[in-house]
Amino acid sequence: MNATNDQSKNEMSKDINTMVREAGIVGAGGAGFPTHVKFAAQAEIVIVNGAECEPMLKTDQQLAARYPEQLIKGLTIAMKATGAPKGIIALKAKYQPAIKALEPYLTDQIQITILPDIYPAGDEVMTIWLTTGRRVPPGGIPINIGVVVNNVQTLINVAKAHEGEPVTTRTLTVTGAVNNPVTVTVPIGTSLQEVLNLAGGGRGNDLAYILGGPMMGSLITDLSAPVTKTTGGLIALPKDHSLIKRKQMSLESVLRIAKTVCEQCRFCTELCPRHMIGHELSPHLLIRAMNYKRMADPQTLTSALTCSECGVCEAYACPVGISPMRVNRALKAELRTQGIRYQGELRKEDSMAKYRMIPSSRLVQRLNLRPWYPEAPFRLDTYEPDEVTLKLQQHIGAPAIPIVKVGESVLRGQVVGEIPEGALGARVHASLDGIVQQITPQMITLRKGGAAT
Ligand code: SF4
Ligand code: SF4
Repeated sequence: MNATNDQSKNEMSKDINTMVREAGIVGAGGAGFPTHVKFAAQAEIVIVNGAECEPMLKTDQQLAARYPEQLIKGLTIAMKATGAPKGIIALKAKYQPAIKALEPYLTDQIQITILPDIYPAGDEVMTIWLTTGRRVPPGGIPINIGVVVNNVQTLINVAKAHEGEPVTTRTLTVTGAVNNPVTVTVPIGTSLQEVLNLAGGGRGNDLAYILGGPMMGSLITDLSAPVTKTTGGLIALPKDHSLIKRKQMSLESVLRIAKTVCEQCRFCTELCPRHMIGHELSPHLLIRAMNYKRMADPQTLTSALTCSECGVCEAYACPVGISPMRVNRALKAELRTQGIRYQGELRKEDSMAKYRMIPSSRLVQRLNLRPWYPEAPFRLDTYEPDEVTLKLQQHIGAPAIPIVKVGESVLRGQVVGEIPEGALGARVHASLDGIVQQITPQMITLRKGGAAT
């Protein structure tokens, strides 16, 4: 490529990054990393992560089936921005409507790869390994091996940005113990209670709620909390469901159980996806260290930082109900406050790895989710709330700075929160036409029509 070509390519990448930055796009898969920063890298492959491996969530598979053209457009833009000559759409064979919808758009450069129906196929490190055979080093990121991974909804948002539409809505699945499980699109900032109402409300009185998927989602008690750019799902389950009880367990209880009953069987390590692909992470050693006053090689302790918190060790592997994941999470928090980073080599991958992955159906059975595993059909219209609460931090990085005043009228799509100068962050946009009711350091509240109260 000559210098002129290089220059025009750089300018095109810059334009795309500006467009993505201005539209406030962040990774919709959960992490919320600002997409314009991801797009600034030079990559060899862009992967669309359509694995949606969390049981019960049915958002990405339905979005890909409904909006194939936008998904391909978003992927093409991502490939242009990163200079990647190859795009891979990673889907599971059971997502036939999505596969059929996307097939007419495939080219020599853009292909579908079918992932096995296992958990956690959607963890980006695992998605990369399953689709390309490349392995992200422990403590590393996908771009270290020439790959950029984007979620389905993220790339649809990129296509919308190209049409001049910033991120103002979120599609999510509302399921479990609800009257009409559904996959809905709502303005960002809609309350979770309203989202629950869109699914006909909870079935039964004694319910608990998980924000996100059953494996990696967290318990939520305040349904007045708003939907954000990264809200993947809302799951209702009876309060006495084993999954809820486990998520409610205090860290003290987790540590006490680990100390009392860990038999060092190593099942947690044998089934740990990161360990299987050659990361040092060995949860049984971390449990042993915690049980014996952290008597372990410092390198072993810091390997907790490479835990993805996929939950395989606690929900599937451990035969006696210990949660190495919770122990790792606590260790990670401690190590991060001390500014410690993990440094270690990628080891040989387990030759049996592909046979040790957990079939999704077995996981659903093990989690006792079969009775709460309905379809969640896609609703085409976008719900219109009277009020929205826009969090100023819906992403990794610094919170956005409000640039509107109480009482000011705003239009849907107008910027209300700006990225602080020189910081990593994402813009926040009004998700309805209305009036600014309240501004706090954490959020901006907008009300449709009417005057500020
Ligand atoms: S699987 Fe459970 S009992 Fe076995 S080593 Fe891991 S934490 Fe201990
Ligand atoms: S949660 Fe458990 S299984 Fe998953 S990466 Fe961490 S240690 Fe491994």
